[in-house]
Amino acid sequence: MNRPMLPEKMRGSAGIIRLHGHRGARGVLPENTLIGFRNTFEIGVQVVETDIMVTADGVPVLTHNPRLMAAATRGPDGSWLTQDSKPIVQMTHDNLQQFDVGGLRDGTGYAARYPDQAFLSGIRIPDLAQLATLLQSPEHADAFLNIEIKSNPDHPDDAPPIPRLVAPVLAVINAAGIADRVLLQSFDWRVLSEIARQAPQIPLSYLTYETRAYPTMAVNVIDGSLWLDGASIADHNGSIPQVVSNLGGAVWSPYFQDLTSQTLAEAHALGLAVNVWTVNETADINRMIDLGVDGITTDYPARAQRCLLAKGQSWREDITPPPA
Ligand code: MG
Repeated sequence: MNRPMLPEKMRGSAGIIRLHGHRGARGVLPENTLIGFRNTFEIGVQVVETDIMVTADGVPVLTHNPRLMAAATRGPDGSWLTQDSKPIVQMTHDNLQQFDVGGLRDGTGYAARYPDQAFLSGIRIPDLAQLATLLQSPEHADAFLNIEIKSNPDHPDDAPPIPRLVAPVLAVINAAGIADRVLLQSFDWRVLSEIARQAPQIPLSYLTYETRAYPTMAVNVIDGSLWLDGASIADHNGSIPQVVSNLGGAVWSPYFQDLTSQTLAEAHALGLAVNVWTVNETADINRMIDLGVDGITTDYPARAQRCLLAKGQSWREDITPPPA
């Protein structure tokens, strides 16, 4: 099948597993912030993963949830939001700039999950154009983006109609001249179909999450659901890699606990790269390295670097393990 190829520096190979800093490096710096992205690049990780929502005035901004999270957001007067904000899609870019997303609120479950995250103040939600500018600087000439476009078929009002969600993202990518340094991903495969129509040269990553008790999040690989945009897993002998391959995906991105050595081998045989998310515990990172995935998305990129080096492997060709 004719499909856009991943840039070589995003492809795994013998002894090389690519690291993707999840939301920058959520474990240690506020998520989806320029300081998090910069820090991830500066420790030598070449790929940052980020999330896109589009504002009421059509600006792609880098933030994960459809609403600003009360646990992570302070208002213009410096006080914590008492509840999640109204939908970002109903807010303008200027509105959003009034909020501070530099820290997690003590006492919340979210803060408890990331006890090592730096607490900063005066941190604004970046827009995609700012991150693209970072890539244009000579010091980040070998940096790449794994951009997740957020869309939820169960909550269609949380995003613009899909063509208007995709178009401004592509406009920023094209204006910055970084189309050959991005991978676009989504759980909502309608988004990926739309990207394939508007920008058929950009490689796509099909995110999947299968049924399990924890974490509690929307399962997208269900035949007949809007998530799959009409694709049928049953029609492909129950094989998700086959579906992704047939759709022209460059990458299959399963939840790491969903991946088996069989499905990994099947994906590789089909020419797909396999990026797993979001792998944070050392034992899990090591297990994914041993399985031989192509990419690991993690909130702790430095931890994953150490795991790779300890196994005599790396995440990039120009960094090799130290002597024992
Ligand atoms: Mg994401």
